[in-house]
Amino acid sequence: MSDLWGIIQHPTEMESRARRKRGSMTATQPNKLERISVRLTSIKCARCKKIVPQRTHSGGRAQRFCGDACRMAHTRKIAAELSKHECYTPSHVIEAARACMGGIDLDPASSAIANEVVQAERFYSVKDDGLASSWYGRVWLNPPYGGHAPKFAAKLADEISTGNVEQAVVLLAANHMTTKWAREILDFGVEICFPAGRIQFYRPNGETQNQVAHGSVILGVKVDRDLFKLAFKEIGPCR
Ligand SMILES: [Zn+2]
Repeated sequence: MSDLWGIIQHPTEMESRARRKRGSMTATQPNKLERISVRLTSIKCARCKKIVPQRTHSGGRAQRFCGDACRMAHTRKIAAELSKHECYTPSHVIEAARACMGGIDLDPASSAIANEVVQAERFYSVKDDGLASSWYGRVWLNPPYGGHAPKFAAKLADEISTGNVEQAVVLLAANHMTTKWAREILDFGVEICFPAGRIQFYRPNGETQNQVAHGSVILGVKVDRDLFKLAFKEIGPCR
């Protein structure tokens, strides 16, 4: 997931950059008076640059697109841009987590594409804000990076303490293990798997991510020790 959440946090910057770009494009050149009135009442479609007439007194949001076709094409482009920063856990790791817990009820840091593999009964995407929602049952968690992992770890610790979350399998970067926030999870007395080699995360287009920058660890919280070892022994040594 890495940078995705960081980007989502700053849509205004992306928006304003796009707006500056649009603003710098010159209109077709009618006479001066017409030009001024066009500038006052119209903006260009954010995709095809056609003039989009504005309802000047509606008080609503400006019409950014000439129609649904352009709006949807724009959305697809943004989604593709965001997905460059997304990476998903490979299915053999997910299946081990499922086997260990007997199912996955919730993935609180996911997306529709990721959930095709995770197949959690319920998932929260970046739009849902998993941190603000309640967690429950058997949780698979691969927290987003970019400064968000500590918040997801704290949330998990809370939801385990209250009993809302019964079991969890958590994927962290190996270098997270020495942090103060990871301690909140480790303090539950976890099972740990050290994957042999680096986990090959995959991209939304199905390609595996090249040059994985970090090693991973998999933590089982409140799980059955024997089931965890049985499920993860093929992935790497467990302790
Ligand atoms: Zn258009």
